[in-house]
Amino acid sequence: MERTPEGTPVGIDDPYAVAGACDHLTDDGRCRFALTRAGDDPAFAAARRADDHACHVGPDAEWRACPHYRSTTDGRECARCGLAEVRLAHEDARPLVEEHHLSYGDADDVGRAAADVTAADDLGPDAAAPRDDAGDADRDDAGPHEITVALCRWCHAKVHTGVARVDDDASPDPEAIAAREGRRTREREESAFSTARERYGSDGGGE
Ligand SMILES: [Zn+2]
Ligand SMILES: [Zn+2]
Repeated sequence: MERTPEGTPVGIDDPYAVAGACDHLTDDGRCRFALTRAGDDPAFAAARRADDHACHVGPDAEWRACPHYRSTTDGRECARCGLAEVRLAHEDARPLVEEHHLSYGDADDVGRAAADVTAADDLGPDAAAPRDDAGDADRDDAGPHEITVALCRWCHAKVHTGVARVDDDASPDPEAIAAREGRRTREREESAFSTARERYGSDGGGE
């Protein structure tokens, strides 16, 4: 299994198995990278331009074959247990759902160091074990790519301590449910308060 720069498990054997569509893919199947960042990779952009900027890997979901593939989460729902984020309008509370890296990008995005230490020859006992996808070694791999998913705080901790995997069929931790319900209650209180304030005047009733 791949590991983070700190040596903790990322919780999945093949990040590409759960990775979503490329962040650069437009709704009509074109490559936004080639359209807007042509100068960053002129040869790549020219090849895409010659094909009306169509994404060259998306139709087959062969994401790993593209040098500019990147899939980062919008962070709204835990990929493992399904817990949804509840954001409170007036608070800076720590989010319930966090971004978790399955794979780190290349030098131009997040830095060479992070990419290097996730290579298969690094830390930990898993590194020496045969990899599930060893048979795919000859497949086109233009990576490393940055791939993230959303995990709730509770699943995130479990994944990094190695007791859970991202693709487990799990339901939310009781503590996660309690935290979510606590926020929903606060959310309702806040909206009741602002309704009251609208009704009774700008200072909330004026004490
Ligand atoms: Zn979760
Ligand atoms: Zn993480």
